[in-house]
Amino acid sequence: MNLRRWPLLRQFYDLRFLIFYVTSQCNGRCRSCFFWQGLNSGRALELEQIEKLAATTPRIRTLLIGGGEPSLRAELPQIVSIFRRHNHIHDVSIPTNGLLPGRIEALAREILTLNPGLAVSFNVSVDGLATTHDKIRDVPGNFPRAIETIRRLVALRREQPRLSVVMNSVICAENLGELVSLAEFAWAELELDGHFFELIRGSPKELAVAGIEPKLLAEVYGRLIGIQERYVLRAASGQGVIRRTIRRILGVGRLLWQYRTQYRRYAYGRLWAVPCLAGKTIAVVEPDGTLKACELRGAVQNLADTGWDMGAAWYGPEMGEEVHRIAADECDCTHVCFVQSSRDHSLFATFLQVPWLWLRYARGLAWL
Ligand code: SF4
Ligand code: SF4
Repeated sequence: MNLRRWPLLRQFYDLRFLIFYVTSQCNGRCRSCFFWQGLNSGRALELEQIEKLAATTPRIRTLLIGGGEPSLRAELPQIVSIFRRHNHIHDVSIPTNGLLPGRIEALAREILTLNPGLAVSFNVSVDGLATTHDKIRDVPGNFPRAIETIRRLVALRREQPRLSVVMNSVICAENLGELVSLAEFAWAELELDGHFFELIRGSPKELAVAGIEPKLLAEVYGRLIGIQERYVLRAASGQGVIRRTIRRILGVGRLLWQYRTQYRRYAYGRLWAVPCLAGKTIAVVEPDGTLKACELRGAVQNLADTGWDMGAAWYGPEMGEEVHRIAADECDCTHVCFVQSSRDHSLFATFLQVPWLWLRYARGLAWL
């Protein structure tokens, strides 16, 4: 029986967060990349196929662009507009390796112009200071280009406050000892809206970069959170004391929850405190139209088989079976997007665990 189709139960299977790969092409060569086997296949959905897919996709709140390097898809602004028009997306996040500063700035400008009212976030990947970053990314000169991209986007944000510019850093064995220096550099030198850290995921191109020492990771988390708290406080400054306090508790507490969940899974193999919502509120569409519940699991089906009818696939029996498999599998995973999204849909995590962790942190008690 496919419960996903029952009108009363459909609300529990509302897609809210879609990860949509706009291209498989990439000008990076990251040794930490989990999608390396799927890169540069030349595959990408045509605008017409995307239009059909979006027209049949349930309303979604957040669109996360994936790839490949999204800036290599010239039609990126039109793709975002398609989802804005059909699915009323509230925000779009666009990760980028920052290798093409001028092109990325132009794309950001066009996305903002074409989509009034849409919150747009560019997430520039920086995994270390210059030498480390270029070594992990295997592209000489990547670091200065990524920093130039950030500076251009920050300048654009002065004209377009709907734009957020954040730095994403993937934690791996080769940068663990340098992340605090990177975070201090970013805070002091760049006017970012935030700096976020995620554990290396999946099966990277070079397995050696994944071997993180748990003790050192705990220490680094403890120092990073203090730097991240500065962004939360800065964003909340100028607000009344009650709003400032709530933002602080939620902003810092949610990060504490994320680190604790990832750390406990990574270091001790403990399950997340809430169920993963892959296939329930989150879906992934890869460059060839493959639909997945999450990036780290296998294909559910190819959307070409439904004539690009995403609604039929999303509420269909195949996705229902995948959700059952996920519940039974207890997969070993720390994927940040799914950890965060599953946390934010849990009342238990949001209203009990997050404030409790913040209280422990604020009182100097152990929270990991
Ligand atoms: S991590 Fe991103 S930039 Fe790096 S190779 Fe993979 S897709 Fe390209
Ligand atoms: S726990 Fe991780 S691997 Fe498993 S379904 Fe969720 S995101 Fe995917």
